[in-house]
Amino acid sequence: MTTTLVIPGPLSEEVATASRNSMECAAVLLARRIEAGRDVRLLARSLHPVPPEAYIEQSPHHLLIASQGYVPALGAAEADHAVPIWFHTHPGEEGAPLPSNHDRQVDREIADLFQLRSGSGLYGTLIASPRGADYVFSGELTPETGETSSIDRLWVVGERWKLMPAFARQATLPEALFDRNVRAFGPAIQTILGDLRIGIVGAGGTGSAVAEQLVRLGVRHLLLIDNDSLSESNVTRVYGSTPGRVGQLKVEVLRDHLLAIASDLDCSIVDGMITTRSVAWALRSCDLIFGCTDDNAGRLVLSRISTYLLTPVIDVGVLLSSDQAGTLIGIDARVTTLTPGAGCLVCRNRVDLGRASAEMKSPDERQRLANEGYAPALGRVEPAVVAFTTAVAAAAVNELLDRLIGYGPPERPTETLLRLHEREISTNRAFPHDAHYCHQAQGKWGAGDEDPFLGQLWVTV
Ligand SMILES: [Zn+2]
Ligand SMILES: [Zn+2]
Repeated sequence: MTTTLVIPGPLSEEVATASRNSMECAAVLLARRIEAGRDVRLLARSLHPVPPEAYIEQSPHHLLIASQGYVPALGAAEADHAVPIWFHTHPGEEGAPLPSNHDRQVDREIADLFQLRSGSGLYGTLIASPRGADYVFSGELTPETGETSSIDRLWVVGERWKLMPAFARQATLPEALFDRNVRAFGPAIQTILGDLRIGIVGAGGTGSAVAEQLVRLGVRHLLLIDNDSLSESNVTRVYGSTPGRVGQLKVEVLRDHLLAIASDLDCSIVDGMITTRSVAWALRSCDLIFGCTDDNAGRLVLSRISTYLLTPVIDVGVLLSSDQAGTLIGIDARVTTLTPGAGCLVCRNRVDLGRASAEMKSPDERQRLANEGYAPALGRVEPAVVAFTTAVAAAAVNELLDRLIGYGPPERPTETLLRLHEREISTNRAFPHDAHYCHQAQGKWGAGDEDPFLGQLWVTV
């Protein structure tokens, strides 16, 4: 079992700031807990600092806090269906974020109260020490009955994405295979690439090109989703496809291809559409997702996942336009990054809502509405060319690398537009609309498994 604490950028900044204080300080972090297969994810919701008057003693090595410093936060945890995590700092660049004997005593004294008052049955701990602009941490989760388990990794999702292993975890050195990568971005990022769990929705031209690049970069945990079989005309652009495999599931063809590149790859596949609840549910285990589908309804689901599960989504699209004679005149592609604080695909007008709702209807119903002029005709075969799908896939993987490494501008754009016919690249940023679920004030950041899942209705099949 691996436990990941997922924390939005602004909350992580609060943790970093507290850790840089020369005095020990404390707070209660609220997080919703979801189980994704064998793994647990804690989605951080809010940080409730201990008010100054509740500190009885405070020094660089010691804390004594009156119960009114944390009891109100336990009520907030109950109201928010969250796990209360007792957070404190061990100051100093040399500080080790490991529990002291005194910390252990505090745990014994307050665990019951935290488990009971929050209604969660759980008591969490988090200790942080500063390291430059960042911090290092250790953490644990203790249920009312059962054993204490550690918080193994912390996934910061904001302008930058940072995957931090728990302090005590031994860092492993990347294999010699990755020497050229390591020379470009160092061993830490290489290890992170190997540890990230990445979902790819769509295993066609762009999805297969993204997958192959990720595996060559050193990504070792992939979840591939697609409901299509390989057709003859896919062989012109789907990586790993061969004429001999036409008719087989795209996800199986791609998985076999990727395993031939890296036999140690952990690759799960789902034959299904992301617009089905069970398929969207499977994505709960991912740290981040590439959206490589041309399906508008699917994009709506991906948008919601990015907010409700704090899972960044890199969504790609390619649009080819032709003149009246049918000849190519425009090659427009985009890479849109959905991360807490950025506008979702709806706020950006990147989803055709008419098509999305038509895609959710049964084929008969869709045809009837299309005939009556109430719905766009679907099922048209769009042109697609390997050079363009590969170009946008590379731009999408480039976006992931920048978010991890930070070589880009500090005010990161959340969208890159490639106008390949103009040989032009531009970028932009878009922010959530006030009343939309992707806005922080709506309380949906890290909402987790709330019913209905992702706050949307699901078609029963
Ligand atoms: Zn301590
Ligand atoms: Zn939005």
